[in-house]
Amino acid sequence: MHDEASEWAPGGASRWWLHHSLASLSADLAKKNIPLVLRRGRADRIVPALVRDVEAGAVFWNRCYEPHAIARDKALKASLQADGIEVSSFNASLLREPWTIETKSGGPFKVFTPFWRALLSQGDPPPPRAAIAAQRATIDAPPSDALALLPTKPDWAGGLRDDWEVGEKAAQDRLDEFCEHLLQGYSTTRNLPATDGTSRLSPHLHFGEISPRRIFHRARAAGVDAETFLKELGWREFSYHLLFHFPTLPVTPLYPRFEKFPWRTSQSDLRAWQRGQTGYPLVDAGMRQLWQTGWMHNRVRMVVASFLIKHLLLDWRDGERWFWDTLVDADLASNAASWQWVAGSGADAAPYVRVFNPTLQGEKFDADGAYVRRFVPELAKLPAKWIHDPSAAPDDVLQAAGVVLGKTYPTPIVAHKQARSRALAAFEATKETA
Ligand SMILES: Cc1cc2nc3c(=O)[nH]c(=O)nc-3n(C[C@H](O)[C@H](O)[C@H](O)COP(=O)(O)OP(=O)(O)OC[C@H]3O[C@@H](n4cnc5c(N)ncnc54)[C@H](O)[C@@H]3O)c2cc1C
Repeated sequence: MHDEASEWAPGGASRWWLHHSLASLSADLAKKNIPLVLRRGRADRIVPALVRDVEAGAVFWNRCYEPHAIARDKALKASLQADGIEVSSFNASLLREPWTIETKSGGPFKVFTPFWRALLSQGDPPPPRAAIAAQRATIDAPPSDALALLPTKPDWAGGLRDDWEVGEKAAQDRLDEFCEHLLQGYSTTRNLPATDGTSRLSPHLHFGEISPRRIFHRARAAGVDAETFLKELGWREFSYHLLFHFPTLPVTPLYPRFEKFPWRTSQSDLRAWQRGQTGYPLVDAGMRQLWQTGWMHNRVRMVVASFLIKHLLLDWRDGERWFWDTLVDADLASNAASWQWVAGSGADAAPYVRVFNPTLQGEKFDADGAYVRRFVPELAKLPAKWIHDPSAAPDDVLQAAGVVLGKTYPTPIVAHKQARSRALAAFEATKETA
């Protein structure tokens, strides 16, 4: 069933992933003689029709937590039950159900650390179950390209194909590789965007190719300190907790005073950000990594999001939408919670006065410039000393590297110092109208 009616229907990169994920699932199920039946359209019509076709007496599904999906599934459950069909739903994609973690007074958490402590205090989440055995087929499955999810004119997915292997086996292999070789150094390497230092499991998790419980137990069994890594899974849980309790999280600031924030509108600045043409190499490298590969390193996500919101004063929802369309791991809960976190309007958010300096972030986390060289090749020949600040480089250095500012690479679209003062003044204005 592929439901495109929601305003958060999957974006382009997610559709690409979904196509390959379904193809992989279909092939795996075929080995067990189980057909994967795909239908496009409204669940409240399609599922009852399918139930009648196969004369099913019971329907089982794994829960979704997006507000529109909760509403859809509640209505579907009621209508199937009214027809005498047994319906059961399960948790397959979270460590714990969002409503089972409560503050002492019985409400939702808005701060991460006590949330994570409360979740862990319930004991380890249950381990994943083994896969089901072979079945007797009762219906023919259409080919997995029936949903027409892939881009055709133009086919922009070459970079995604080069970077990713999709499906349950790929997810399991990556988990093993990560736990055997990368988990030990994760606390340090996770901040270095040029290094393969994080799990890159996010799209596999989003599409249900692997469960967080499997990751939790595998990481705990790896024989090294896994707590920093598990905490990141905790941020994912926290995002779902927030979305469940505050369903307008993707569109409305969690703290209402941010509704009055004096956002600018500038199509040209938004375009420059989207295309990686801001004149700040770390920001541009990140935005181009996203466009080419459908993924961006977490450290750089924070820097590019801060740049959009604070340097350009553009609405965080513009950035959230762009990520929604371009990320292979686009996830309503994690995306919305993270954007609001950077904007300062969300739960446990960074203080608004913290404005990342993209040049210093580059010098700190990409000291030799390897990440920038990879994604901004027109700067590749600049020495490390200047690669994060080309507009400050002496003329002869630029010339030797073949860089002509304003021609081969843009001059900065805003000056950091002025942008910072402007952002702080805008924030002060928001405080005054609180
Ligand atoms: C502005 C912004 C937007 C983001 N949008 C998304 C999104 O749409 N989908 C998404 O999955 N993540 C999002 N993140 C969170 C994070 O950047 C990615 O989960 C992470 O980079 C994925 O890479 P990884 O699998 O190698 O992570 P690892 O470092 O290996 O972490 C393991 C897992 O923990 C989870 N995780 C890690 N960090 C976070 C976090 N800050 N919030 C929530 N979960 C986290 C992910 O599921 C990840 O796969 C966003 C972050 C920012 C700053």
